[in-house]
Amino acid sequence: MRKGIPVSPGVAVGTAYCIHEIFVDPDTKRLEDREVTAELEQYEAARDRAAADLAALRSKVGSQVGTKEAAIFGVHESILRDAAFTDKIRTWIAKDRLTAQAALHRLLNEYTSLFARTKDEYLRDRLNDVRDVVIRLNSHMAEVPRPHGKGSHPLRGPVIIVADEFLPSQVVALGDIDVKGIVTQTGSQTSHAAIIARSRGIPAVSGIQGILRHVNTGDTIVVDGRDGHVTINPDAETRSAFRKLEREFFLLKDELAANRDQAAVTVDGVKLELLANINGVADAKAAVAMGASGVGLFRTEYLYLTHPDIPDEEEQLTAYCDIIKAAPKHQVTIRTLDIGGDKTVPYLGHHHKEANPFMGWRSIRLSFEHPEFFTVQLRAILRAADYANSLGGSIRLMFPMITTLEEIHRVRQMVRRAERQLHEEKKAFSEIPIGMMLEVPAAAVSIDSLLHAVDFVSIGSNDLVQYLMAADRDNPKVSHLCQPLAPPVLRVLTQVVHACRTTEKPLTLCGEMAGQPRSFVLLLGMGLRSFSMSPAFIPSMKDLASHITTQQARDILNHALGLKTTARVKLYMRQQLRKIAPNLSLLDTE
Ligand code: PEP
Ligand code: MG
Repeated sequence: MRKGIPVSPGVAVGTAYCIHEIFVDPDTKRLEDREVTAELEQYEAARDRAAADLAALRSKVGSQVGTKEAAIFGVHESILRDAAFTDKIRTWIAKDRLTAQAALHRLLNEYTSLFARTKDEYLRDRLNDVRDVVIRLNSHMAEVPRPHGKGSHPLRGPVIIVADEFLPSQVVALGDIDVKGIVTQTGSQTSHAAIIARSRGIPAVSGIQGILRHVNTGDTIVVDGRDGHVTINPDAETRSAFRKLEREFFLLKDELAANRDQAAVTVDGVKLELLANINGVADAKAAVAMGASGVGLFRTEYLYLTHPDIPDEEEQLTAYCDIIKAAPKHQVTIRTLDIGGDKTVPYLGHHHKEANPFMGWRSIRLSFEHPEFFTVQLRAILRAADYANSLGGSIRLMFPMITTLEEIHRVRQMVRRAERQLHEEKKAFSEIPIGMMLEVPAAAVSIDSLLHAVDFVSIGSNDLVQYLMAADRDNPKVSHLCQPLAPPVLRVLTQVVHACRTTEKPLTLCGEMAGQPRSFVLLLGMGLRSFSMSPAFIPSMKDLASHITTQQARDILNHALGLKTTARVKLYMRQQLRKIAPNLSLLDTE
């Protein structure tokens, strides 16, 4: 049994499917003489396709972002065309009878051990470039092994993914595979894997270092998303105990989902708004199925992360309209691109590692530096707003990581400019409310001087907590500090909610804590009435609301605010939750 960070609640028992095998375990068969020519041809064809990809990327990024940012693709092209690189692969295929993929794998290992000894940052970066190129080539040669397919591991039934990290591109590659649990070596509550798992209601545990060395595809594995335990090949007794919990988890989810058409109200009749955080159309549909009253956060970066290059205005418009069409009541708060930190997009100049990526060139800061492509996004959103109106819905525009008043002025100016352009071009658009995400402590401290400049506020507690506690949200080593129930976090949140309520500024919280029962009660006590969360959590938060009065929540908050350590707050909240809604304990995470 191993312990990690619980990132998505629930219990799952199933067959492990290790994703590192896509790369770490290539085909070990040796080619027959007659297969060599075909293999060489296959490699050359893949190389041509990869080169064409890179050339297209270089020209698109060059014209839309800048030649500096596009340069990296030139570097990748030259690696691809490098004589030493190609000669090695050809020789290994022809002489050693390796498959092209096995040859690529050997090449990567060779470079990795070569560069491992160097302290030179530049050379290390080049290793990353080689890795990028190899992955690109590999993707042109191989289909991702599929659990149900003909590949080396034909598995039946749903699987539990075990991976170093579960990236959006891998999620896309796995497509329709039935995933019932996720375990990752890196990551934390707010990493990609966690967000994806929660949005699909899949139990998940992150931050178990080295687990890929202990699990093989086909092993039975238990994921306990309540406390973060993962058990590999459990004995029969343990397995049946967890299977029982798993069944209860499914039943509970079904039972709760039955409340989808009811309003979210507390025992004393206070109406709450439960919105959904979504990353794409599938989540928008899940939001409807779970009874969300709208979308409180559409993370547009997934559009970019899963796209090989910058999506142009028409592509974005189509994507936004698809979301609007699918979203509950056609109401969507769209957040502009928020990359950097843990989410990188190479075509926006993100290949150079920063010393402090979360405090560096990310989010709105990056958008400001690329006004041409930022404007494209603003135009697409303004045009999508017109479509939302035609369906009787509405759009709100939200900017991430706002730190200063000047930034709000600047985004407003850019929105006005985009509106003027559209007006002159006679393209239909609608004016929309403009809001800020409050996720930087500086903005929380100076909230009084920012509120007048925005139409609404949404607290991004995932980032706010990491910045307040100076503890990286993706680093398992400091996850004990990066806690939404930490006393300083509760104090700051209480102040922000108070400031917004006093000025009647619409306020939502869209960080992960909105869907966690313990935090939900405290936020309710602070006076928050609008919560945006992974769709899977909406039924349980609605159920929780129906078990509590706002006065009870206020009393619990007041008591919690007097506690001096995170551990005490957690313990106290666990006790309170058991009293208020004992049925929800399966959905509570440590
Ligand atoms: C947040 O920071 O709380 C948030 C909702 O945004 P993200 O998790 O995408 O950074
Ligand atoms: Mg954020």
